[in-house]
Amino acid sequence: MKLKSLILLVGLFSLCYVNAQEIRLSVEHEAVSSLLDWFEKDQPSQLVEGIVNLPANQIMEQIYQVHEKDAIAFNDALCQFNPMDSLTGQPYRLRHAYEHRSEIKVLQDSLQTIDWAESIFHKSIAFYPKHFNSSVNYKVFLCFTGWKWGDAMQFQYLMEDGKVVLCEEGSPGVLVNLAIVNDNYGNTCQQKIKTLTEVMAHELFHVLFYEYVQKHWSKKEAEGIVEELKYLMMNEGIAHYIAEKEYLLQTYGTDQLCEKEKSAFEQLISNHTIMANDSLPEEERIHALNKGTYGSYWSKYVCITGMFMAYHIEQTFGPEKLSDCIEKGVDYYFQTYREACNKNEAIPRLPEALNSTTWSGV
Ligand SMILES: [Zn+2]
Repeated sequence: MKLKSLILLVGLFSLCYVNAQEIRLSVEHEAVSSLLDWFEKDQPSQLVEGIVNLPANQIMEQIYQVHEKDAIAFNDALCQFNPMDSLTGQPYRLRHAYEHRSEIKVLQDSLQTIDWAESIFHKSIAFYPKHFNSSVNYKVFLCFTGWKWGDAMQFQYLMEDGKVVLCEEGSPGVLVNLAIVNDNYGNTCQQKIKTLTEVMAHELFHVLFYEYVQKHWSKKEAEGIVEELKYLMMNEGIAHYIAEKEYLLQTYGTDQLCEKEKSAFEQLISNHTIMANDSLPEEERIHALNKGTYGSYWSKYVCITGMFMAYHIEQTFGPEKLSDCIEKGVDYYFQTYREACNKNEAIPRLPEALNSTTWSGV
């Protein structure tokens, strides 16, 4: 009985501790609501300007125009849209948005009934050292039109006279296209929101990681390709782990997953020999690094090996250890993984040369 009360007290204390962090994440729904309303009202032209000027739509339009050459203005796409004519509404995937408007409405209504921002924030901040006081203001802009591959796109921005300016250094934000979430993130509304929450927690982890490194590490940037590899394996690795933790806990040990793990480490080892070989052209070495960060999910050997490292570190040493790694830096992450390998023969080994390359500077 006494033990139970103690566990309860400890539980409540840690909950209070996490809640003590101010949640600096907000969600902008207006672009979705206004377009749903516009569809509902039979697309009145006098509302177009108001819709186009909403921050989420300004961002969506700018990103769309980067990816789709010869794109018309969003304003023109809306003015030309006619639900009776299937040839209009291709730009910005406006027709697709129109056809799926009721599902989008259900998705948006569900997001508004839960404390979504809080669950994303807590999922991510839980991995950071307790002393970390983030001052990041992270905004999630929702839309359901735009570039066909842009499910969740990161950027930095400034507001100037009501206009959004995308720039290198500004407030961090992410544009989420709910039409793509609706298409690809699961079969039920609940599943879609769960996947989206995991994707958002992954993205927020990167924003917080950047802030943590800038505030607390003495060395803030990797020097050279192998250091960059180590930095990415930690940053992308833990971010992927946050999103996949539940899945890994349920399925680790199955043949299929072990095969994927083995293959990611094999690809890392062969590409590491290219990255580490400074007699090769720099372009080739950078390519060996970059191709491990994009493409089909399990082929991203830089991110996936990092993710399994985070999984094994947490399984071997407990959840506090990943926070210690963030506090102590890249070399400590690799050293801790090596210690996990020493305790468990079955864990895949990293290339020996990678262990001995120092990142240091924390
Ligand atoms: Zn990432």
